[in-house]
Amino acid sequence: MSMCVNYDQCPFLKKYNPEFDKSVALKKRVMIYCNGDLEDKCIRKKISRALGDSSYIPVNMMPEGKPVPGTRDTEWSAQVISLLEKFSVPAN
Ligand code: SF4
Repeated sequence: MSMCVNYDQCPFLKKYNPEFDKSVALKKRVMIYCNGDLEDKCIRKKISRALGDSSYIPVNMMPEGKPVPGTRDTEWSAQVISLLEKFSVPAN
């Protein structure tokens, strides 16, 4: 098990950290991606590498590329949606 190198700076973690105890879905993502064996599979990291800038990544994008439950992907840029499709995660 390893911890993601972005763990302390990740906007997703920073924003949704207060909700982790209330949301099994979020807590599970952190355990298996951010602090687990799938951290190298994180779509946020793949898109960040492809764009060369992590600031374009929507904060509500979970590590597997779906929006946080209760949020939407309607504000996500066409470029981000295109990269999601490239990385085989269909947008909702
Ligand atoms: S969401 Fe991705 S980039 Fe952020 S800490 Fe988790 S594994 Fe790292």
